[in-house]
Amino acid sequence: MKIRLADLWDGPLDLKGEAAPEPYDLIINGNEQWSPLAYNLHAEILGENELLVRGSINASLTVPCARCLEPITLKVILPEFTSATPFTSEESIDLTLPIREDILLSLPMAPSHADVGGKCPPNVEKIYSAKVDQFAEQRRSETWGELDKFKEERE
Ligand SMILES: [Zn+2]
Repeated sequence: MKIRLADLWDGPLDLKGEAAPEPYDLIINGNEQWSPLAYNLHAEILGENELLVRGSINASLTVPCARCLEPITLKVILPEFTSATPFTSEESIDLTLPIREDILLSLPMAPSHADVGGKCPPNVEKIYSAKVDQFAEQRRSETWGELDKFKEERE
């Protein structure tokens, strides 16, 4: 996101809109999906050579849960983004890097269902169930089979 300083000489500027996430280089693991970045910023020149930009930036991120790999959606909310940039003779100030840094710093290290107020779904395939051991059952009937016959003949 670039802000042209010439646009600000007449006074502060409110910037509101959505920015495509790609220029912010937010893909770290390769399996994240970012929504557009919704921004609501107030830009002004302080003194003669400092650009101050304040406001909020919101987005959402879909990423596999670090525990169960099911996709989860994290809300990324920067309610008080602030960037103060001194300038000398630039025509525009690029806020891409400070926005990227603030977004990445706001993310949990290993996003999981716990970060979105939930629990990982139970994984039914991993529940252990004991199977009947056919071989042991067969051996048991062979061992007692003759005695059972003897008992049946006596009755
Ligand atoms: Zn999970």
